[in-house]
Amino acid sequence: MFDIVIINGIVVDPEQLTRRQGNIGIEAGKITAVTQQEIHGREVIDANGRIVCPGFIDIHGHVDWRAYCGELSLRQGITTTVGGNCGLSPLDIEAFFAAQEQEGFIINQAEMFGHSMSLREAVGACDPLQPATAEQLARMEYQVEKALNEGACGLSLGLAYAPGSSNDEIYRLSRLAARYGRVVSVDTRMRTSIDMYSLVEAIDIARQTGARVQISHLVYQYGTGMMDEALAVIDKARADGLDIRFDSGMYTQWASHIGAVLFSEESMVANGWKLEDILAVTGKYNGRRLDMDMYRDLRANDPQASVVVFTGIEEEIYMALSHPYAMPSTDTGEYAPGEGHPQIAGSFPRYFRQMVGERYELTIMEAIRKATLLPAETLGFHTKGRLRAGMDADLVVFDIKGIMDKADFGLPDAVPEGIDYVLIGGKLVLNKGQLLHTRAGQAVRCTAPVYDYTI
Ligand SMILES: [Zn+2]
Repeated sequence: MFDIVIINGIVVDPEQLTRRQGNIGIEAGKITAVTQQEIHGREVIDANGRIVCPGFIDIHGHVDWRAYCGELSLRQGITTTVGGNCGLSPLDIEAFFAAQEQEGFIINQAEMFGHSMSLREAVGACDPLQPATAEQLARMEYQVEKALNEGACGLSLGLAYAPGSSNDEIYRLSRLAARYGRVVSVDTRMRTSIDMYSLVEAIDIARQTGARVQISHLVYQYGTGMMDEALAVIDKARADGLDIRFDSGMYTQWASHIGAVLFSEESMVANGWKLEDILAVTGKYNGRRLDMDMYRDLRANDPQASVVVFTGIEEEIYMALSHPYAMPSTDTGEYAPGEGHPQIAGSFPRYFRQMVGERYELTIMEAIRKATLLPAETLGFHTKGRLRAGMDADLVVFDIKGIMDKADFGLPDAVPEGIDYVLIGGKLVLNKGQLLHTRAGQAVRCTAPVYDYTI
């Protein structure tokens, strides 16, 4: 007798790339049986006609303990979120994990250690246009090493937010991540609308330091007519033996805070962004396109206000996510109900609907592999993203024909349809839209190297 069984599902194994009718038995938070035999449990979930697979791993998010943001992730089938991206994370990684180990959270959280905003400011490198001093850099090295020892799954660079970072600064910190066998995620600089050098620069981090490099939200950076070239640059680097991977959302429009150096007048001109292409998605101008008075008001008085830049070419989303080393991601962040970018509630359902259901870009097995096993392998989550005995019972049951994102601009937190059940650590946490547990999520500390450091 199992604690829980999921029966009659279409079980997708992302390691074997198979799907077959089957049953799953769960005991003490782990998958203990995957079988076509009849099995019995104290709790029974009938998954008739539904896909059963590992819970999705969102390799690029900003949940960082925010409960509503975590809930919207869970409702997309995400069981593990990776926070601390774009160079912005809590400074005390030990406290971050310890709190989750004591209190639990709505989903599992792994955490990057962020360089470009939080850490730089903490050591006094407050001007994003200037390189850190030798003394500031030494303090940053100490902090990065400490965070890696405490279980951060990598170092995140937000070069668009600290374009003054020197190569010395980037390489010395990335070399630490490489020595620990952890990933370096890079939100590339956005210097101009045709800037391919920023991708070459991110790839050079792998070349110079031996680090595995995860390029963040590739479509947001290069989905403006440059995707063909960006993918060719990545393929060339991989052919040269560099470990370059990337993630992307399902939208061309991207969100950030208006106070970022990225939105200085010079940067706006260099990137060709017009004020009418920028939509406020929080605060007093929520839902309105900017004009010069609003832009100046927000930059001066509400620099944390979120805006979305309407840019990019839709077809380049599908090109990017068809790549074998591409992973879907949300870039989710915290907003009040009714505010924000639809990526917070729609990303993963949209990925399955468009990439599998409507466009046939990916098979269901391949689409699931890229949302589960590939991020787990990239980050070193050895018991997640896999569907076999001994693995964590983080599971999602969904209807591939009925999966539907409902979020849109103006309705950014509308929850999707077609995600029937989500389990975390063997607990049923989402049952046909109803939240049953909000503390089942565990801390995901990374302690072992994911790859060998060779340089
Ligand atoms: Zn981000």
